[in-house]
Amino acid sequence: MNERIKSAAAFQQALQVIPGGVNSPVRALKAVGTTPLFVKEAQGTYITDIDDNRFIDFCMSWGVFILGHNNPTVSQKAAEAVMRGSSYGIPTLAETTLATKVREAFPSMERLRFVNSGTEATMSAIRVARGFTGRDVLVKFEGCYHGHADHLLVSAGSAVANISNASSAGVPDGFTKYTVVLPYNDTEALEQYFAENGDKVAALIIEPVACNMGVVPPTREFIEATRRVTEQHGAILIFDEVITGFRLAFGGAQQRFGIKPDMTTVGKIVGGGFPCAAFGGRADIMKVLAPDGPVYQAGTLSGNPVAMAAGIETITQLSAPGFHEELEKRSNEFCTRLEKIIEGKDIYLNHVGSMFTLFFNTKNPQNFKDTKQSDQVRFARYFNRMLERGIYVSPSQFEGNFISQCHTPEILDYVLKSIEESINE
Ligand code: PLP
Repeated sequence: MNERIKSAAAFQQALQVIPGGVNSPVRALKAVGTTPLFVKEAQGTYITDIDDNRFIDFCMSWGVFILGHNNPTVSQKAAEAVMRGSSYGIPTLAETTLATKVREAFPSMERLRFVNSGTEATMSAIRVARGFTGRDVLVKFEGCYHGHADHLLVSAGSAVANISNASSAGVPDGFTKYTVVLPYNDTEALEQYFAENGDKVAALIIEPVACNMGVVPPTREFIEATRRVTEQHGAILIFDEVITGFRLAFGGAQQRFGIKPDMTTVGKIVGGGFPCAAFGGRADIMKVLAPDGPVYQAGTLSGNPVAMAAGIETITQLSAPGFHEELEKRSNEFCTRLEKIIEGKDIYLNHVGSMFTLFFNTKNPQNFKDTKQSDQVRFARYFNRMLERGIYVSPSQFEGNFISQCHTPEILDYVLKSIEESINE
């Protein structure tokens, strides 16, 4: 492993012009007590930094690259699209093609619209839900992250979890007045809140498998309750599948759990590595959106042709028979072996399909309160030991790791050996 001399210099330069040297906080690697590596290129499972170190990547651009970095056909389709012009601000056929493909995977998204980020998708979905119901209250869960819109930065996960109260400065109290936060996996609290206030709730938004407090699956009882209480009280159930969409199954967590939400957001995978996300849902709900209805939402680059081309090719590859089954099988084998390695070491593994988090914790976390009790100092040591062995795991205790189709059994063997050595150190 080369010393990260060029990355260190690049970071100093970046600090002169970019706040914190990064364009998204977690990339600064503060939570793990080091400084960022600067990437030169990526291929398959590997990222190469500007000091010519090669790392096996488990962050995979935060879950985007289920096909591995720089999938040759996805990149080719995107390059071809660029050569035809990279944005028009006028409709293209590709938008309808990708929308149709997304709906095939997510039949609950009877109508959907493309935006440029997961943040935009959740923000817009909530506006639509409020416009449709004529109600104001939004229910979210502690430790779930739905992007950085003002009213969603309350007890949020992801990098917000490293801020003292998991909320952000710069958000006036009034902006979060209608955001109600409940504990994840607490069916009783959910039922009680809806019994008392259900008629005021516009929408309940949930990560159907939480990934931004580290991976925390819902109990069957809890996830079913989200559908039941919203239906009973005429509130819109929004599944935020920005991470889980196209990952936990072709049709995301909703397919896996057999639960049909009223609205869904997808992101990351859907744009094949380009800025793209979508929100959608029941046709009657989506009808309130401009130009048909009174709820405004728009975007200069929305439905961008390069992102559409990459998305279409990505989803085409994901729709190959057996893709998710094979990925799941490989991930399960990896996790079964990992369980044995961590046994009796105050480390717990949560995994669902190809997403997993190792929690340095004395118990298996079920909610944000639990995950926040994890030993972040131990986690940081683990991260750095893994980095020395050429493995880039997601750089925070409050994030997931992602297995792609390029993580071959041989690579995973090496990773398991490295995890064992790292935690024994
Ligand atoms: N929703 C979830 C579940 C996410 O994990 C994220 C980002 O990680 C977002 C929304 C926001 O997406 P973006 O970062 O593209 O704005």
